[in-house]
Parts: sequence; structure tokens; C-alpha cells
Amino acid sequence: MSNFTMVIHGGAGTILKEDMTPALEQAYSNALKTSLDAGYAVLENGGTAVNAIKASIVLLEDNVLFNAGRGSVFTKKGVQEMDAAIMDGSNLSAGAVTGVRNVRNPIELATEVMRNSNHVFLSGKGANDFAIKQGIKLEPDEYFYSAFRYDQWKAIRDSDTYSLDHTNHHLEELMKDKKFGTVGAVACDANGNIAAATSTGGMTNKKYGRIGDSPVIGCGTYANNKTCAISCTGHGEIFIRSVAAYDVSCLMEYKGMSLQEAMEKVVNEKLVSLQGEGGMIGVDSNGNYAMVLNSAGMYRAVRTDKGFEQVLIYK
Ligand code: ASP
Repeated sequence: MSNFTMVIHGGAGTILKEDMTPALEQAYSNALKTSLDAGYAVLENGGTAVNAIKASIVLLEDNVLFNAGRGSVFTKKGVQEMDAAIMDGSNLSAGAVTGVRNVRNPIELATEVMRNSNHVFLSGKGANDFAIKQGIKLEPDEYFYSAFRYDQWKAIRDSDTYSLDHTNHHLEELMKDKKFGTVGAVACDANGNIAAATSTGGMTNKKYGRIGDSPVIGCGTYANNKTCAISCTGHGEIFIRSVAAYDVSCLMEYKGMSLQEAMEKVVNEKLVSLQGEGGMIGVDSNGNYAMVLNSAGMYRAVRTDKGFEQVLIYK
């Protein structure tokens, strides 16, 4: 029997207390707590880390507050294209999808890719065809629509700007009260197996089929029982160039760093040196966890079998 731990995030960015209303803060905290508890319940009942993170992510994808599944951001063309990835640290199996449309829960599709395709990473139309073949639930465009994300996109659609869901460096003012994000989960189960998953609509106004770090194994999502399970959120281009999630694993494997040390090195030194705004959550196979961010805030929550529980928003 190992210690078990559940950790989730709901995106990072310029999330400031002064921009929040108590009601919105409460809505986020409640959503995080519900998702956290769903994943934790799987672990408590002896379920696997993979099933726990999936249970948590599905709820966040279904919640319009977050930039994943329902409530995803709009692309330059005014549609929603979603990315997701999942990785099982016990056997290094992984599944990922990018640019999928109308898939209610992209994390379900990524899991299907991991379990029932001979591939790891499917894109666009092909990924959608696979979803239909596997009986994955689809929804019409309206299901994914949210007024605030539409306004967020309208404000920048005529420019070349694209923005991290919680931050817009050019239109900070306009974006001020629009703080919503990518979702992720990592878990260590009672057998000491760990897993990571991330799901996102990407960045507002993205174009040319842009893919962020979230579905790229080793960049936004990575898990290996030997080291860690990591889910990232932030400016995807920099996380890709930094191979951020796998870098944490490497620092642990080759340098003998602890999870916390390795995550701090990557988030607060390496990413900062490239102006890569964001953060990440992680667990190791002893049930240790860390949540590290270099942005003003990151929606995040943790619950351990030792009775420790925390839901946090600001740095
Ligand atoms: N990392 C995501 C991306 O670049 C965005 C986010 O984390 O909010 O697509």
C-alpha cells in the first residue's frame, strides 16, 4: 500500500484577487473541490491513477468556467479546437489528440487513443473519425459556446495577438475579468502508480492549426513511475521549447533532485529565463506532490490520504 494523492489545476495566468468577485472565487473553488473529490474517490476505492485523473478532468471539461471541453476558447476562425493528453506512468503508455471539434470530453478520446489505437497522437479530422468509431460522445457547436470566451475572442480577433486564457499582454485591461483556464490532473494511487493528464482549448485567437504544449507528451504532460507525473499550464510555445514536463523528470532521474526541487528549477528558472509564464502540478510514486507557478495565480487543489486538503488560486 502506497500513500495516495490527487492534485488538479484549472489553468494559470494573471489571476489577481482584486479582479475577482467573491461569487466567482467561490464558483472556482467549488468546481475545483468537486473535481478533486471525484478523483480522490476513485483512489480511495482502490482505483488506478489513470481512472482518477480522468474522473477529475471530465468534470472540469464539463464546467464552462474552464478552457477545456465546454467553455473552450475560440480560434482565429471562431471555432473551438481542443487538445488533450493522458499518460500512464506505470507502463509509459500515452494517448493524445489535437485540434478536435465537437468531442464532449477530449480526455475520454485521448484515453481511447492510449488504450485502443496502435498510436499515441491523433489530429483533427482523423481524431474525430476515431472518436466516432469508438462511440465517444459528441456535442453540437452550441454546447461548447460561452459568452465570455466569445467576447474575449471578439476583442482580439482582428489582430495578430493570441492570448493565454488568463493573460493578454497586449489587452490586459480588456481581459482583466476573464480568468479561466486549461485543466490538468496528476495522481498517485495506492499501488504507487502515477499518471498525468491535461485538456485545453489552447490559446484564444490561435490560428494555422496551432498546437500548444498540453497534448505534446513530455512538454505539457508526462508520467513515469520512476520519477514523476506532471501536468503543465501556461504559454505553450515556451513549454514546448523547454520540454518542460520531461525536464522535471530528467532532473529527478539524472540529477537526483526531489519533485519540488526539479519543478522549481524548471518553472522558476528555466521557463522564467524564456519568459514562459505559467505553472505545473506534479506527484511522485511515494505520493509526494508539488504545485509551482511563476504567474500571479493558478487554480489548483490537492488532497492526500493523510487528510490534507487545499484549494488555492493566487500565488
Ligand atoms: N498551455 C496551453 C496552451 O498553450 C494554454 C494554457 O495552459 O492555458 O495551449
